[in-house]
Parts: sequence; C-alpha cells; structure tokens
Amino acid sequence: MSLKSLRTHYAAEVNPAAEDGKSITLAGWVHEIRDLGGICFVVLRDRTGRAQITLVKKKTEPELLEIAKRQVRESVITVTGIVKAEPKAPNGYEIIPTSIALVNESTSPLPMDTTGKVDAELDTRLDNRFIDLRRAEGTAVFLIRSQVLKSIREFFYENKFMETATPKIVAAATEGGTDLFPIQYFDREAFLNQSPQLFKQMLMSSGFDRVFEIGPIFRAEEHDTRKHLNEATSIDVEMSFADHEDVMELLEKLIARVYEDVLKNCEKSLEILGVDLKVPKLPFYKYAYEEVLSIINNEIPEIETKMKFGDDIGTQAEHLFGEYVFQKTGESHYFITAWPTKTKPFYAMPNAVRPEISNSFDMMHRTMELSSGAQRAHLYDILCSQIQAKGLNVDSFEFYLKPFLFGMPPHSGFGVGCERLVMTMLGLDNVREAVLFPRDRKRLSP
Ligand code: ATP
Ligand code: MG
Repeated sequence: MSLKSLRTHYAAEVNPAAEDGKSITLAGWVHEIRDLGGICFVVLRDRTGRAQITLVKKKTEPELLEIAKRQVRESVITVTGIVKAEPKAPNGYEIIPTSIALVNESTSPLPMDTTGKVDAELDTRLDNRFIDLRRAEGTAVFLIRSQVLKSIREFFYENKFMETATPKIVAAATEGGTDLFPIQYFDREAFLNQSPQLFKQMLMSSGFDRVFEIGPIFRAEEHDTRKHLNEATSIDVEMSFADHEDVMELLEKLIARVYEDVLKNCEKSLEILGVDLKVPKLPFYKYAYEEVLSIINNEIPEIETKMKFGDDIGTQAEHLFGEYVFQKTGESHYFITAWPTKTKPFYAMPNAVRPEISNSFDMMHRTMELSSGAQRAHLYDILCSQIQAKGLNVDSFEFYLKPFLFGMPPHSGFGVGCERLVMTMLGLDNVREAVLFPRDRKRLSP
C-alpha cells in the first residue's frame, strides 16, 4: 500500500453519524496526551483539526495502552481505529484505536508550545516558525492567504488579464536609488527589484493590454514598523486604454470579491481567528487629497501642525483620517485621489487641467495604505521631464523609455501589498504574521 493511501481521512472530514462504527486511519501529530489513570486520551492533529483517540484502560490491550502512553508531543503518528460519535470530542467523534504507529518521534522539550496554553512572543514564534505554523491560528492565516491569492487569480483570469513574470534582478531602480538592495551580478552591480512597475508598463507597449503579476518585491526599508517588510508580495496590475477611474473600479471589485470568497470558503479558519468578516460596500468612498487636508486641518484637532498642499499624509494622520471615514461611513476601505504630482512617482500622469495634481490614488484601509495606483504618463516628453524633475537620470531609464517612442497606448494600473491585504482583513497586529518566513531589518533566517 502506498503511503498516501494509508490515510483514509483527515480529522475534520470524518462524519460522526455516517462513519460511526467504521474503521478509519488518520495521520498527523501528537497534539496532546492526557493520562487520567483509568482512561487515556491522545489528541491527533492534522491540517484540518483534531481527533480524540480514547483508550479505556479496562477495555484496551495493555500493549496498545503502553504505546499510547509512551508518545511524546509533536511526534508523527498514524492511528487506525473505530469511529464513535461523541458530541463532546473535537469534531464530534472519538476513535477507539486498534493500532497506533509511531512514524517519527519528536524531540523534547519543544521549542515552543503548540496547544495555545502558553503565549509566545512574536520573535520566539518566528524563530520557530515551522512549529508556530502548527498552531490552528497559524494554519488558518495561511489557508486564508491561499484563498486570497486564488480568488485574485480567478478574478483576473475571468476579466481577461494574463499572468506575467518580470525580472527580479534589475539594473536600475524603479523609483530612484533609495530602498534598494544591491547585489553582485557577475562582475557588475545589480539590484533586487522594488516593483514590476517599469516592466508591466513596457508590456502595454507590447500590446498585452491587461496583465497581472503576483510576485516578490524587495525594499531596503530601514525602519522597523508593523506594516513594512523587506521582502513583500505585490499584486500588480496594468491595463491599456483605461484611466485611473477605470482601474479604481477594478480594484474595489477585486477587494470585494476576495472578501466574499474568503467569507464563503474559509468559514472555519475565520472562526479559529475570531474574525467577523464584513464584505466592503461598493463603490468605495473617494476623498480628493485636498479634501483630506481640509478635513484633517479643520476637523481633526489631534493633528496640531496644519498640513499644506504637497505634504505627505503621515502615519498618525492616516490613522485618524481612517477613523474619521469609518465613523462617517461605516466602511473600512476608501480611496484618496488626486495626489500632488510631486508626491507621486515620475510615471504618474499629471492632470490635464491642473498639472500640479496627478491622476493617482491610494486605496486605504482604516489603518493603513493597501494600494497605490495611477493613470500613467504614456507620452514620451512628459515622462522624460518628470524623470528629470525627480532628479533622476534619463539615460539609466533608456530600456524603459524606448517603448514609449514606438506606439505606447494610454494605460493605468496599481499595486496591492498581499500581506497588508491579509493583515487588515484578519486584524493581525503585525504584517509579519501574514508571511511564512518574514524578512525584516533583523531577520534573515529562518
Ligand atoms: P508605504 O508608504 O506605506 O511604505 P509605499 O507607498 O511605499 O507604501 P507602494 O510603492 O505604493 O508603497 O507599493 C504599493 C503597495 O505595496 C503598498 O500600498 C503596500 O500595500 C505594499 N508595500 C509596499 N512596500 C511594502 C513593504 N515594505 N512591506 C509590505 N508591503 C509593502
Ligand atoms: Mg504607495
């Protein structure tokens, strides 16, 4: 018999009524052992949940009881036994074992607790991530993240987008020289890419029309915050013959779809995490940058220094404004549009009537920015002058600029941070919780 066919069920897939009295085999980890003298419980855990193995001393062969009692927590075992409906046990059944096989023994003591009885610091958890992820909450976050990415892919395929992969080793910075990781590329210096921005735009000139990419971005952000990673997953989109209004509509539909799918397909994971998910209402509210400034200056007294046109909206203002929007509208997601041209990257399209503002937007969650997007400058001369205005060298963008000389359609797009999307959806305290093996200023391993 193959190893795979040995297991007949996952723990949460056993139907206590239908399978009562049947023999099944489970495979997983020893979550817990409780030896109460007359009765011994072994709790087996797999990806789906837990199963209780019950051994009543008087009714169990002494050899089998001995094997059960000898187990140490987190060893890998297989258990074959008879299902017995038991409403008080996890998943509504227990197993009366006929055999318990130790597959691979765990060492003790464990680097951290997996039962949820002892709280561990985030650092300890991340140092021992393999075992941290065995906790039901850890698994739940990543089952949901997996559903989020699946929904995103489905949504884009349904809307005729094609999936692309652009290089992560690049010669030039997307948005200037800061926040870049230099690497040795044979005898030259290269960089890890901060964003697929320039490449996805070049594909618009190739006539691909609608592309999306889900891939890593690398940013040498020095600061240690709860929403910044040094390696993040970006969901990037670019669309031809579309303006910023069109892609804002696409983005809000995407977010609503992801929420709907998670609500529909991840019920158990949401329950484990205690998340009461609310699908955002469409369309998202839109606030022009100047409107945001005026509200902050006139209606949010906590911000003492008056903001003026061209200022970035800092973390504190972002929070207080997010709260303001939530109180007013009951919604957590909204857009800030029409940012000053000088606060946005060179590739954003300046507004035709008021060139000091750009056809750009940020999609915000109550607590932080989730996405930035814009109509792009598709006209060569505007693009060159904007590159120069940012103090960058036009020559180093030659590969990017060339397509703009040979038939570049108008286009627009955005990038969403996958980890921030998951973090805000689940109310996680730290973005690191939404990555399997986070990379930050201090953490390069595991
Ligand atoms: P912030 O100002 O919050 O640092 P940003 O404006 O620099 O973000 P963009 O370049 O606009 O980020 O990237 C688009 C999206 O990618 C962001 O809205 C965010 O969701 C995500 N993102 C960018 N940088 C990071 C990072 N260092 N860690 C996690 N997510 C990131
Ligand atoms: Mg941004």
